[in-house]
Amino acid sequence: MRHPYAAALAALTLACATVPQEGPVAAAPSTPSTPAPREAKAASAAAATPDNPLLRAWAGPYGGVPPFDKIKAEHFRPALDAAMQQTRQEVARIADATEPPTFPNTIEALEDGGRLLQAHQTIFGIFAGTLATPEIQAIELETSPKVAALSDEITQNEKLFRRVEAVYKAREKSGLTKEQQRLVWRRYTEMVRAGAQLGPDAKKRLSAINQQLSVLTTKFSQNVLGDEEEALFLTSEADLAGLPESVRSGARAAAELLKRPGQWAIINTRSAMEPFLTYSTRRDLREKVWRSYVNRGDNGGARDNNALISEILALRFERAKLLGYPTHAHWRLENSMARTPERAMKLMEAVWPAAVARVKEEVAAMQALAKKEGMKGEIEPWDYRYYAEKVRKATYDLDQNEVKPYLQLEKLREGMFWVAGELFDWSFAPLTGVPVYHPDVRVWEVKDRATGKHVGLWYFDPYARTGKRSGAWMNAYRNQERFKGEVTTIVSNNCNFVKAEGGAPVLVSWDDAVTLFHEFGHAIHGLASNVSYPSLSGTSVARDYVEFPSQLLERWLSTPEVLNRFALHYQTGQPIPAALVQRIQKASTFNQGFSTVEYLSSALVDMKLHLAGGEKIDADAFERKTLEALGMPRQIVMRHRTPQFNHVFSGDGYSAGYYSYLWSDTLSADAYQAFVEGKGPYDKAVASKLRQHVFQAGDTVDPAEGYRSFRGRDAGIAPLMRKRGFPVLQNAAVSP
Ligand SMILES: [Zn+2]
Repeated sequence: MRHPYAAALAALTLACATVPQEGPVAAAPSTPSTPAPREAKAASAAAATPDNPLLRAWAGPYGGVPPFDKIKAEHFRPALDAAMQQTRQEVARIADATEPPTFPNTIEALEDGGRLLQAHQTIFGIFAGTLATPEIQAIELETSPKVAALSDEITQNEKLFRRVEAVYKAREKSGLTKEQQRLVWRRYTEMVRAGAQLGPDAKKRLSAINQQLSVLTTKFSQNVLGDEEEALFLTSEADLAGLPESVRSGARAAAELLKRPGQWAIINTRSAMEPFLTYSTRRDLREKVWRSYVNRGDNGGARDNNALISEILALRFERAKLLGYPTHAHWRLENSMARTPERAMKLMEAVWPAAVARVKEEVAAMQALAKKEGMKGEIEPWDYRYYAEKVRKATYDLDQNEVKPYLQLEKLREGMFWVAGELFDWSFAPLTGVPVYHPDVRVWEVKDRATGKHVGLWYFDPYARTGKRSGAWMNAYRNQERFKGEVTTIVSNNCNFVKAEGGAPVLVSWDDAVTLFHEFGHAIHGLASNVSYPSLSGTSVARDYVEFPSQLLERWLSTPEVLNRFALHYQTGQPIPAALVQRIQKASTFNQGFSTVEYLSSALVDMKLHLAGGEKIDADAFERKTLEALGMPRQIVMRHRTPQFNHVFSGDGYSAGYYSYLWSDTLSADAYQAFVEGKGPYDKAVASKLRQHVFQAGDTVDPAEGYRSFRGRDAGIAPLMRKRGFPVLQNAAVSP
């Protein structure tokens, strides 16, 4: 997991509605933390191990690309030791300097330090997130506390802190640019927030806590991954009743991979669970699949996460107290756009009642239909998706299986490229000969169409495999920067689509298509970055702001321009019929009760867990009581129940921060209105403002200020409520 204090790098891996943001990756120390290097200086220790590709500058075109073709698991341990040693030397040089502290010899020197370590951690993160063998997992467990300890060692370096502090105090009178001042502010507040001002005993305890947390959170995510690798095997045609061909063939392929040819495997992941619950007419099997999914991390035995959660929460609370904050939530939110847990709670609580009320309507509609069909008893949680799909069909004449043949993965990818072309004037060309870590990964070069100038590289890893964590996410291999000269920005998008048999086109659901666009929004955010310093680059923005650009980009999927060109039937090549598009648009607020409650219950439990204070928390009881008090509809479970809540427990990343998606979506709904009020989604003037103030700006400005520059005012909640089909009036005054 990412080290708690590596805030400078916080956005290296971005995940999304479905995924843990932070991979089980230990990140570089907070202080000399810059993204993967343009030229990773070879470590002094590298001489001893000249064959270790992790200790050499990235070679090849574009200022070097990750040497995936040369890296083996055995390279990680020795390279980490050497990279940590080099980082220590770099930090010591900065801290022990005898010249008076200045911006260049302190802050810039830190930006330029730790590059070898950062490159190591980036590559290791890719292995841990997408190629996690038992060997990689063992290395991860062993090395994460070491990296956490180094991070603390740097934060707690008294001489270094005094130098940073001196530059910080003089920042307004030193002729620094606005961006430089913000970088100084960030560096300083990060160190303070990480305990730089504590006394020696408190520092020691803090470091011990961080190392313990790094082990506990790594175990947490490995346990979830373990449970997700379980599968339910179906053995007869009767078990498949109701499943469309695409789901059957995916399950057949999955079983083959698990060495059970001729059977069908429903893997215990969201992407396998959701279609099964939507289509299977076998209520008994739906219940089985549902139970297995919602009980990940909660099954007793070696992979049970409940005890880990209690320990993690207790340590986080203790750490917050040491640092002078009332709770972990207060500490986490201080530098966010929301600033306080209270403001985040206010937004969530403004939306919750409308969502719950909508669920009651949704359930009533499903219940009526189920009764007509002869179902006995009430709608249970494993029935929700199944009957929701039927109601969707009956009410909007919209069948997801009717839409799916038009949603070809590769065509959608072309559609995303086209949108980036329209909004940002970019072109994408496939690249061959660049090393990849798996044959499924492909690479594109991105260029500015008008100037021909190189923008960066985009890696795409679309398919599920054993050892790859579930969901979808973006990863920055090398952040944009230019204070030491231009570098090639490298980002990736990662998903878990099931490969179709025999190389047939991969068809995805509407929701998955939205996710594709979402992740691509993160990729664009990384690629569009135009800043000087890597710590402020691209997606390195506040947690509750970072989902704003990605959620905004989702909106372009449903524009007629994209659908007519790229939503093409996989057999006939015909574009999706206009009437079907209309029905999709009409149904856009359908089931928003379910999805909002599913998400928001998780976000509320997360925040309440981290506001709860110092008592020992029994995760199971806490979750039950909190949901009861909230009036959680019994037909829905949290999108991420506590024992599997990777966002919150596989690292600090989204802890007390799952609200961020709602916060960001409030911004994205409001921002899209700017296009609606203009000439529509492809309004060049609005796009240009959006690029200037949001996509290019990274963290060079305060997010609230950046948003105001784009929109001319603060965001309001009304567009969010309308987007979800909820009543607006009583909440109109709440704003993020
Ligand atoms: Zn996201």
